[in-house]
Amino acid sequence: MPEVHNWQLGRKMAYRFPERHPRRQFAAVFNINRCIGCQTCTMACKSTWTFSRGQEYMWWNNVETKPYGGYPQFWDVKALELLEQADPGGQTWNTRQRDDRASPYGQYQGKTLFEAAAKGQEVLGYLPADEEWRAPNIYEDTPTAYPVAAGTYHPTGESLPEHRTWFFHLQRLCNHCSYPACLAACPRNAIYKRPEDGIVLIDQKRCRGYKKCVEACPYKKPMFNAYTRVSEKCIGCYPRVEGREPLFPGTPVEPRCMAACVGKIRLHGLVGVNPDGSWVEDRRHPLYYLVRVAKVALPLYPQFGTQPNIYYIPPRWVPRPYLRQMFGPGVDQAVETYLAPPRELLAVLQLFRAAQRIIFSYRIEEGGKIFETTIKGRKWEMFNDTVIGLDRAGKEIVRVSVQEPIYTRPPRHLNSI
Ligand code: SF4
Ligand code: SF4
Repeated sequence: MPEVHNWQLGRKMAYRFPERHPRRQFAAVFNINRCIGCQTCTMACKSTWTFSRGQEYMWWNNVETKPYGGYPQFWDVKALELLEQADPGGQTWNTRQRDDRASPYGQYQGKTLFEAAAKGQEVLGYLPADEEWRAPNIYEDTPTAYPVAAGTYHPTGESLPEHRTWFFHLQRLCNHCSYPACLAACPRNAIYKRPEDGIVLIDQKRCRGYKKCVEACPYKKPMFNAYTRVSEKCIGCYPRVEGREPLFPGTPVEPRCMAACVGKIRLHGLVGVNPDGSWVEDRRHPLYYLVRVAKVALPLYPQFGTQPNIYYIPPRWVPRPYLRQMFGPGVDQAVETYLAPPRELLAVLQLFRAAQRIIFSYRIEEGGKIFETTIKGRKWEMFNDTVIGLDRAGKEIVRVSVQEPIYTRPPRHLNSI
C-alpha cells in the first residue's frame, strides 16, 4: 500500500492511493467556546440541500452535545472502541518528536483506521444501525452526571478552570479530509476530491449504493438515500465557493452553515496546499494563522488518520483528558493561548462571521489600550485594534474592531413606538 505524509500525525501512514493534493483546500475553524447550540447552521444546510424525499434523516451539518450526544448515536465512541480493539493501548503520542512544519503536535504512535483495517478492507469502520440515525439531537444540552444528593446541585460543579459538571456543543460536518476514508473505501471509485478546492464529492451516477463510504467514514458523514438508492454527503456548498451565489456574483462565498452562524463561531476559507500536502506558508491568511502560527485550533480525532480540515478551538472549561482524546496533544497549548490571547489573535478572532465573502488575508491597524488585567498572575492588555479582511485580489471586504462600536438610534427611528 502507498505511503503518504500526514502532518497532523507527524508521520507517514498507509493509504490506498499515492500522495496527490489539491491546489487549495476547503477548511474552517470553529470556536467551540462561542457556540450557543441554536442549530441555525443545521437548519441553513437542511433548507438548502436536504429537504427532498429520502433525505428526511440527513443532517449534513449537525450540532451535538458532548459528551453524550452524537449523530448517528455514539459515532465517535464506536470508532474509538474499534481502534482500541484493533490496536490495544495504541492511541498515544510522542510529543518530544515535534517539528513546527512536519509534526506540530508531535508524532502519533498508534495505528490509524487505515492501518488497523482487516486484510481485504481499506478502512476499519462500521455501519450504524437504523435506530442510531433516528435522534439527531439526542442528549441535547445534557451535562455530565456529577454525584450530588437528589434534588440539589453542587455549588462548585461549574467553577473554572475546569467544570466538574460540563457539556459543550460540537459542530460537525464533512471534514473534506485530505485522506478521505470514504474515498479510499469506495469500490466504484465514485468519490473524488476536487483539485481546485479539495471538496470531496460523491458522483451520483457512479455510486451504486454499496454504503462502503458510510461504513468507512469515522465521522459518519456520508448518508444513504433509501429513495434514490445512492449515497450522499455534504458538498461544501461548492456553487457558493465557486462564486455562483447570486448575491455576490463571481465572488467566493462561505458555505451556508458558516454564513448563517448566529454565535459567530465559524471562519471558513481556502488554504494553499504544497505538492507535498503541507500548507503554503501564508502568514496573513486567517486560517493559517489560527492553525499553524497561534496553534489555537485543532483537528477532530486526528488519530483516525484522515487529516480532517475542520479545526476547533477547544472549550476552556472541559476536563483536559477528554479534550486530548478528541483533539490530540495540542489541547493544552491551545486552551492556554485562548485564555490569554495574544494581541494579534484577539484581532483575528473578530473576523469570525464578519463577512459572507471568503477572506483570503488580513491586516491589522493598531488601536489604543482599552483594558488591562492579570491572568494567571501575568499582566494582560487589550488593545482596540482593527482587523481588515481582504478578498482574493487584496481588496477590503470587511473591517472590525476589537471593541464593538455603540450605535445610538436617532430618537424618532421608524421602528420606535
Ligand atoms: S469526513 Fe468522512 S465523508 Fe467527509 S471527506 Fe472525511 S471521510 Fe469522507
Ligand atoms: S449557528 Fe453557530 S452558534 Fe448556532 S449552533 Fe450552529 S455553530 Fe453553534
